[in-house]
Amino acid sequence: MRLTMLGSGGSGGVPLAGDRPGGTFGAGVDPGDPKNWRRRVSVLVETRGKTILIDCSPDLRLQLLENRVTRIDAVFFTHAHADHSHGLDELRALSYAQRGPIPAFMSPRTHADLTGRFDYVFTSSHPQAKLYPAIMADHAVEGDFEAIGLAARIFDQDHGNVVSSGFRIGPFGYSTDCVTLDEAAFAALEGIEVWIVDCLRFEPHPTHAHFDRTLEWIDRVKPKRAILTHLNHTMDYATVLSRCPDGVEPGYDGLTIELVETS
Ligand SMILES: [Zn+2]
Ligand SMILES: [Zn+2]
Repeated sequence: MRLTMLGSGGSGGVPLAGDRPGGTFGAGVDPGDPKNWRRRVSVLVETRGKTILIDCSPDLRLQLLENRVTRIDAVFFTHAHADHSHGLDELRALSYAQRGPIPAFMSPRTHADLTGRFDYVFTSSHPQAKLYPAIMADHAVEGDFEAIGLAARIFDQDHGNVVSSGFRIGPFGYSTDCVTLDEAAFAALEGIEVWIVDCLRFEPHPTHAHFDRTLEWIDRVKPKRAILTHLNHTMDYATVLSRCPDGVEPGYDGLTIELVETS
């Protein structure tokens, strides 16, 4: 299994577009470190000859081009927030090249939200289109599920005013956009080797895990390697790394991880 972090930034990316020409970095964040330039969170999972994309960030087109991605066999959605879903149209070219809709898997909650907001994208909500065919074949899934012949698990995560989904695929766990995790989530993550996990900033936040909380979770889950994601504009790569214990590191765009799958 090979993982590629397509994006590791907060919902606005890093730097933030806004009040300063060239963008806003937080105090003490080094703009000269390329690892401090972050696109919105997304991960590519290549396993058993298949490629799964987790989330369609608003930066998806550039993420696919930069990482030379030419095929997506399935998409998993963590939730419907804009920074995780608003790039879904960027899969239109791949869907056409692959000559059919790309299977997409999500919780029933996210399914209701995305098919309502983007009906033209999904086969269930846009079955008869002739000029612009649907580009994703949508599937609402719960618990253990099978996606394009691969075994996976989806579980609920508390994300403040919404519920996001975590995913487990073999030895890999993915938990972005969560502020608390329940016992069912910890059970789903038991025994994982690599965990990419939410860590928005150092200070507590109402909808995201902050640094101390993320480290507490990692101490409980005990993956061999934990990688922090959804890092906002106040998180300097070198500073975060210096505060991480062994086996924990901040993620960055383009980071790849190789995992051995035993069964
Ligand atoms: Zn987010
Ligand atoms: Zn979110």
